[in-house]
Amino acid sequence: MHKNFKNIEKVVFGRGSFDQMDSILSEKRPENCNFFLFVVDNYFKGKPLESRIPIKPEDTIMFIDVDVHEPTTEQIDSIRDSVLQSKGIPSGVVGIGGGSIMDIAKAVSLMFTNEGSSTKYQGLNLIKNPGIYHLGVPTISGTGAECSMTAVLTGPEKKLGLKCDWTVFNQVILDPDLTETVPVDWWFYTGMDTYIHCIESENGILNNAFSHAYAEEVLRLCKDVFLNEGSGQSPENNEKLMVASLMGGLSLTYSEVGVCHALSYGLSKILKMRHCYANCVAFQHLAEFYGDGLKEFNKMLEHHQIVLPQNLSKDWTEQQITDMAKVAYNLPHMWNHALGADWKDKFTVDDIEALYRRF
Ligand code: NAD
Ligand code: ZN
Repeated sequence: MHKNFKNIEKVVFGRGSFDQMDSILSEKRPENCNFFLFVVDNYFKGKPLESRIPIKPEDTIMFIDVDVHEPTTEQIDSIRDSVLQSKGIPSGVVGIGGGSIMDIAKAVSLMFTNEGSSTKYQGLNLIKNPGIYHLGVPTISGTGAECSMTAVLTGPEKKLGLKCDWTVFNQVILDPDLTETVPVDWWFYTGMDTYIHCIESENGILNNAFSHAYAEEVLRLCKDVFLNEGSGQSPENNEKLMVASLMGGLSLTYSEVGVCHALSYGLSKILKMRHCYANCVAFQHLAEFYGDGLKEFNKMLEHHQIVLPQNLSKDWTEQQITDMAKVAYNLPHMWNHALGADWKDKFTVDDIEALYRRF
């Protein structure tokens, strides 16, 4: 079976395109209870962007602090319940922020039309009804959450996405200027997420001409942004990285991520380490899987004077290492891609524990 992927319906790209949001939303305003729900990264509260959000008196705006924790099922249920009780179903949900806010907007839009807790729907195609209109405005580039068909949520039992065709945004506004305030460390970690997406998508059995075409271009763009002369945060590189993020997401959608993402999920679930940072922490130890990519990654680290932590595992308990290895092992699609269909013969939970002990 070949993948049949639902793409974003509409995409605006360009510096200053944020200001087209009002006209884009106007035709959707008559739907449902005639108001929009805006979920916005708390970073923008009181910043100039806040005054450019085309909010009307009937709309609801929620500023969310994404640094406390990655999006949770409980958080999604509570946003949905409070809005439903006070105003009913919105015309649509607009998310303005990084990967965390993209996932919150996608998940909330689905949960307005699917009863019960979002924990019931963590997995593939478990959602019963299409969600409401949702528009995403990424403000940090790299995760590809703006184009993926999953809204990753941490629940009481698992960190797993609400994954289905209806998760994908109806509209995305890609305005590279919005990323100019991203601190250099987050710029690096989140940008490396897209780099690692493509290294992993390329190195595995599901790689194909479609995913390869995107990955090849993304890796070229990442070199411009992080390594070549003129690298660093600049209007031109912000454009390149925003495009790379989207294309990296498309590359892995048609292929798959691999060992690094499996290990990173363990770090996030058990140690609450953030996705992009966790990928960087893991990637530096995976020479036998991604040797050439790792050499380039090390050059990029050096070039931007980013120092990753070492000897973390000496402070971890055996139980934590086992728990992380189990989380990683339970992502068979990633191991299948990276190691082949017989991966269970080649790799065990003990082997995964050994990888974590290198960290
Ligand atoms: P984030 O949304 O967690 O934000 C990281 C930090 O950057 C926060 O402090 C935020 O306030 C800040 N920030 C964002 N934009 C800014 C700006 N323009 N200026 C200044 N600061 C800004 O970052 P992320 O790395 O994009 O997202 C991580 C999340 O994405 C995780 O929850 C992860 O699970 C999820 N994710 C989802 C997918 C998917 O396909 N759905 C893929 C990968 C990761
Ligand atoms: Zn990722």
